[in-house]
Parts: sequence; structure tokens; C-alpha cells
Amino acid sequence: MPDTLPTYLRVFSIPTPFPVGPVNVYLAEGDDLTLIDVGPRFEPAREALSAALAERGYALRDVRRLIITHAHSDHCGMAAEVVDASGAAVLTHSLNFPLLADYEDERERRLAFYADLMRESGMPPEEILQVDRLRRGMGRFAGPVKPTGALEDGDTVRLGDEDWRVLHTPGHAGGLICLYQPRRRLLLSSDHLLRDISSNPIVEPPEREGEERPRRLVEYLAQLRRVAELPVDMALPGHGPFITDVPGLVAHRMEFHEQRSRRVLESLQDSPRTAYDLSLLLFPSLDPVNRFLAVSEIIGHLDVLELQGAVISEVRDGVRFWSKAAQ
Ligand SMILES: [Zn+2]
Repeated sequence: MPDTLPTYLRVFSIPTPFPVGPVNVYLAEGDDLTLIDVGPRFEPAREALSAALAERGYALRDVRRLIITHAHSDHCGMAAEVVDASGAAVLTHSLNFPLLADYEDERERRLAFYADLMRESGMPPEEILQVDRLRRGMGRFAGPVKPTGALEDGDTVRLGDEDWRVLHTPGHAGGLICLYQPRRRLLLSSDHLLRDISSNPIVEPPEREGEERPRRLVEYLAQLRRVAELPVDMALPGHGPFITDVPGLVAHRMEFHEQRSRRVLESLQDSPRTAYDLSLLLFPSLDPVNRFLAVSEIIGHLDVLELQGAVISEVRDGVRFWSKAAQ
């Protein structure tokens, strides 16, 4: 990794139990010792974070602030423990509040939403149960923590002796934030932009019951364009190596998503299909959790295509069928 980070900023690689591998946790030294993300609630992560802090001469109790980029357990799972040890303030986008503060209830709400959505997408009931069981098992890698302040788009946070601007970049998660330092042209990109993995903008329930479901892939693509227009020399992501060619990587990702949307559209040539059927066509053999992620991804592309007027859908007996719109 290049050594062009500000002297007050460190990156720690913290292990996770997830296929994505380790998560990057950032430490900003200065008046308010700040962690940006913490890692999952997972013993190897706990040990690695304590050891990394100790190497800089700190203990968990010295942390004054915790900035959480989004409420996925690989990034926020250990937050409650850090707060218990330190009394640190917890700052994040307000859209992350429910999943952080009301962890159990919000998880139940989301699991019910996903079960309904998968049913509507044509997933067989036994597979829905499997996904539900596996997702429930992942619950242990995080726990409830109360945010103490909100970070909204355009806010600034002081790291070291510099102001960083908060960018709300919904997509991978609705509440995802990046931090941007314009003078240094540095972007803390979290999972909005990863060098070696295309971040999956996972479908999410509306904030409040009765509202329309957010179109995460549509939002994600808009936020990718926004980030590509910023002057950025280096992006510091939530996983994997630093990124030195942000516009090039964004162009590559946009092309990838456009190609997928085209493949989804081509798969609708002959007959109407469900999102689940489309996922089987595009990704024939997957385990249940990856099947769920594939269906979620297909729904994202159908959202994009629907907005372009390229596809239409119809619900029959509770199952949604997609077809190509008449030209
Ligand atoms: Zn992540």
C-alpha cells in the first residue's frame, strides 16, 4: 500500500468470518481518537483491533469517536463493545440508526421483508426458509449500539487536523457514507468503491412501512458517477487495496452493470420470467445465500430497466413476472 496517507491516519486490516475477507478499519489520531468502522463481533477481529491499537500506543478505552460508514456487521459489529470500553461517541448517517439502535427488531423487519420479496420473486418456499435460517445465523456478528450523532451529506468531520466532507452515497447500503478530503484529494470510500470486488447494491426495505422500496442499484449508479466527478487521487476502501484510478474503476463498474442489465433484458426475449428464474439463467449453480444475493442483484437490474421503460411486470397469484416492454 502506498505511504501517502496523512500522518494522522492509519489503516488496520481486521479479519471477518465472511467471504469478503478482512475489513479495513481506519484510525485517525489527534484530539479525538477516532475509529472509522470497527470490524465484526468476532474473536479474531477483537484481538486484531486491540493489537493494532496497542501498536500505536492506545487501548480500546482511548477511543473518543466511532464513525460507522454503514450498518453491515463486517463494519459495525463490534461497535457496542468499543463503546462499552471507551464511552466513545457513535456517528453515522441517520438511515443507519434503526439497524444499529434497534438491532433485533430491525433485523426481524428486514428478514420478513426479504421473505416476502423472495416469494414475490418466485423463489421456492423451502429455499426461502433456508436463506432465512442462514441469514439469522449471521445475526451474532453484530449487536445493538446507540448512535449519538448523525452525519448527513455535506457535513464535515474533523480527522487529525483536517476537515473531511461527508458524502451520502446510498447504493451498497442505503445509509452508506464516504468521507472526502478535497485538499489531499482523498476519498474514504467504504464499500461504495472497492478495487477488486464489484459492490452489490443489496435490495432493502423502505424506511417506513407503506413507502415504496428504494431502487438501490439506480441510486448506486448515480452515486458512482458523482464520485467519479470528484477530484480524487486515491480512494481508501472498506476492503482490499487502495484505489489510484477512481474514474477508470468507475467506468469499468458502470460497463459491468450495463452489460448485466443487457443480459437480463436479453433473457426476457421469449417469455415473461420471475427474478428468481432470471437468476437461474444468469447464475446456474449457487448456494442459498448467494442465490438470494443473485436474485437481489437481478431485481436491481429490473429496477434500472423498468425506469428506462424497457421492461414491465405483472403480479399473478402473488408472483411477479417480468417481460420486455413493447417497443
Ligand atoms: Zn463490507
